[in-house]
Amino acid sequence: GVYHALAKLSAKHEIPTSSDLDVASVVLSHFPHAHQLAAKKPAFIDSSTNQTISYGELQSSIHYLASGLYHGIGIRKGDVVFVLSPNSIQYPMICLAVLSIGAILTTANPLNTASEIAKQVKDSCAKLAISAPEEMKKLVPTGVPIILTTRQPDGEMVSVEELIEGCSDNYPEELPKVHFSQSDTAAILYSSGTTGISKGVVLTHANIISVISLLTWSLDVSSSQNDVFLGFIPIFHVYGLVFFGLGLLCRGITSVIMQKFDFKEMLFAIQKYKVNNLPAVPPVVLALVKYGTKSGVDLSSLRRVGTGAAALSKELNGEFRKMFPWVELRQGYGLTESCAAATFSVFDKDAKARPGSCGRLVPTFCARVVDVETGKSLPPRKEGELWLKGPAIMKEYLGNKEATCATLDSEGWMKTGDLAYVDEDGFVHVLERIKELIKHNGYQVAPAELEAVLISHPNIVDAAVIPVEDVETGQIPMAYVVKAAGSEITEDQVIQFVAGLVAPYKKIRLVRFIDAIPRSAAGKILRKDLIAHNKVKLVSK
Ligand code: AMP
Repeated sequence: GVYHALAKLSAKHEIPTSSDLDVASVVLSHFPHAHQLAAKKPAFIDSSTNQTISYGELQSSIHYLASGLYHGIGIRKGDVVFVLSPNSIQYPMICLAVLSIGAILTTANPLNTASEIAKQVKDSCAKLAISAPEEMKKLVPTGVPIILTTRQPDGEMVSVEELIEGCSDNYPEELPKVHFSQSDTAAILYSSGTTGISKGVVLTHANIISVISLLTWSLDVSSSQNDVFLGFIPIFHVYGLVFFGLGLLCRGITSVIMQKFDFKEMLFAIQKYKVNNLPAVPPVVLALVKYGTKSGVDLSSLRRVGTGAAALSKELNGEFRKMFPWVELRQGYGLTESCAAATFSVFDKDAKARPGSCGRLVPTFCARVVDVETGKSLPPRKEGELWLKGPAIMKEYLGNKEATCATLDSEGWMKTGDLAYVDEDGFVHVLERIKELIKHNGYQVAPAELEAVLISHPNIVDAAVIPVEDVETGQIPMAYVVKAAGSEITEDQVIQFVAGLVAPYKKIRLVRFIDAIPRSAAGKILRKDLIAHNKVKLVSK
């Protein structure tokens, strides 16, 4: 077996590393041993049911589930497993079991519609889906075999719980032996990148190992094992996966998991579990500023709030610090393509001195700020496109050479599509997105996808979608629409039509009719012109 694996490696001209560790072994190697008292420490607590999984239980569940997937279901290295579930205390265990047998993890937002999910199942070539019972219906039409995350009363479908129980009788409680190399794909997470529709971001074991090692490093600097984290950031997104699914487990930390975000429940969970670390997004920081201290809920346990996934304004930063002087506010910046945070404010004093900054580069990352017109590197304080390089940068977009080449250059630099400047001390300030991507409440909305939906309407001949800045949610999608001749379609009908076909967070919320969509000679939508047009309209109103 080993000889065969080495022969295969040398065929790829790849030299084995000294360890050939995979993501799951790295995470599991940090777990306390089963006989130690620490193994009883909760890894996860469900905020609504209070159910817990200790580190010891987590470890054996990962082993049993891996064994069940391998021996019972026949999942092998390289097979893609689609996980569709809201956050749960089982989610990280499922991810780690999948990764430990060399299978590839792909995740999706459970709010996505059946057709959005079908596209991903097809694109990723998923061999198996592991689904929360309430999401299962969306997967049935795809024909992919399904395992449920939890047992159902009718017991008609196999569940993760049953696999784990069955395995303890039928299979050894040890991970199947799989040979890994660092360039093996670990996960395919979906992102639209700088342009077009959602694409599979191929992340290797090396990418993820590098990021979780760095996260562990930054946690070592800033937190202790007795910290309690609250997790409503979705684990299907790279931010939640790297934090709650993998990284925090390497520090023996307890995470209280919320199935989905609810502001009041978040406040009560902070009080009840004495949460001191809150990885968040800017809309949550805003809600805390507006309603947090008025709520009457005891938030004195909070020590650190992290924010990322979208820009946090200087003003909001200042208001938060005024209202919560006992809480550190740390900003990070990253992309699915950089496997989560590429910059982070590790030290609060630095963050305090530079409101609006996303911190400095995380170790191992390199960055350049590049003039978009000339492609030349720019000095400190000059604005340009941020380019990133390092071991965490994705391998490629799945099956899409054109998009890969447009994003990654021959030297490995990745174009982020974000406008930024860096100060003399290396603090990164992200100013705005120059790519098409819209972010609503931290979720990705790809204009190209909405434009395709819009022009599928018989009374719409052309359309363009742009972001409109919004204080509460970051940005909202707005459509410029060209009606078919003689059509009486109304703005509201356009909104309803799109809402019927896309996930709720992607809904078009504003519509403006126009005679023609401005396009370049090559046919590209001139979004900048539309954004400027809309600003003028808003001012003249
Ligand atoms: P995603 O791949 O969903 O994580 O989206 C990545 C994009 O989110 C980045 O390219 C940025 O446009 C945006 N983003 C993430 N973090 C920040 C931040 N701290 N400040 C501004 N934009 C951010």
